[in-house]
Amino acid sequence: MSFKASILTLYPDMFPGHLGHSMSGRAIERGDVEINTINIRDFAEGKHRNVDDTPSGGGAGMVLRADVLARGIDSLPNDGRPRLLMSPRGKPLKQSRVRELADGEGVVIVCGRFEGVDQRVIDARNLEEVSVGDYILSGGEPAAFILLDAIIRLLPGVMGNDESGTYESFEDNLLEHPHYTRPQVFEELEIPEVLLSGNHKKIDEWRRAQSQALTAERRPDLITARNTQKPRK
Ligand code: SAH
Repeated sequence: MSFKASILTLYPDMFPGHLGHSMSGRAIERGDVEINTINIRDFAEGKHRNVDDTPSGGGAGMVLRADVLARGIDSLPNDGRPRLLMSPRGKPLKQSRVRELADGEGVVIVCGRFEGVDQRVIDARNLEEVSVGDYILSGGEPAAFILLDAIIRLLPGVMGNDESGTYESFEDNLLEHPHYTRPQVFEELEIPEVLLSGNHKKIDEWRRAQSQALTAERRPDLITARNTQKPRK
């Protein structure tokens, strides 16, 4: 069964973009992932086929029209896939939500443009607003790439080594330990001795301690979250 991503965008040619390469590219080729785009402009009416209009109440920029976008959304079967709107006002995307989405059958993603989307279509079509960070992009497309990239790499069979999907940054609200590989000496810097010891218990302990120290230093907010959230099953 393939994971189905339907993307509503004014720039369908941007897809699959980088998702057509490497691991996700192979997943698409195998048919494990289906990415299809819906051009919002196809649902515009009238001589000028306008998709946007000036903001009610005045102000700068343009707003994506509710009626046009709703027709685009309604052109898809209502098959229970979550409908997401990429939006800086959304809930910040976390690995836990990525995992939930990857466990499902697919997603419908709306990419905003201009100043944003008419609130009424967000309400009427029950769009879940998702943010990829506290900064403003020019459109929802790069945010959709981030979301899909994060989902696709978790799908069964996509990552060569399934192990590497389980002990990564954020999985336990911890940042990952540092990595080393050959050569053993690089510019007089050596690989930490414990990693060359072959003692796996010691190595695991060292990595865990590194993880915890790094998280405490760089992301104390994750430690707080860790103490208040229940662990992932
Ligand atoms: N005026 C809006 C920003 C509009 S940016 C505001 O101040 O909130 C145009 C579009 O880019 C948005 O509709 C959204 O789809 C996308 N976008 C911008 N930043 C984003 C972010 N951090 N996460 C997800 N989508 C984003």
